[in-house]
Amino acid sequence: MTTTVCVEATGATNNSGYVSTRLDGKRIGAHRAAYIKAFGEIPLGQYVLHKCDNRKCINTEHLFLGTQAENIQDMVAKGRQATEELLPQWKGGVWKDKEQRLAKMKAYYALNRERIQAQQKEYRLTYKRKKKEIT
Ligand SMILES: [Zn+2]
Repeated sequence: MTTTVCVEATGATNNSGYVSTRLDGKRIGAHRAAYIKAFGEIPLGQYVLHKCDNRKCINTEHLFLGTQAENIQDMVAKGRQATEELLPQWKGGVWKDKEQRLAKMKAYYALNRERIQAQQKEYRLTYKRKKKEIT
């Protein structure tokens, strides 16, 4: 638990609910900028995550570093990224940002690994059966 209240960045939020800002001419999330200003560079492959689950929050006491996998685990744990929410977006082709799309597909796969693998197995079996019927 955090002892301080959230400090929300002002400005428009992007599709993911993060506020973006400029740092050294680069457009990055306000929470990332806040982290860099307070603690220095973010190591490669590390993400700035929220303890408070408030994506607009830039209170550095609420921020911590983690990997994308931890980010996904965190999202799943918090129930924020339900698969029902992911699928329609995927089908609708809403994701314009390639990186975002990839991250969401990975998240979707991580959440549904077993079901996807079962489906793939089923496809292979069906294919084998069909092949047998023909030959
Ligand atoms: Zn916060």
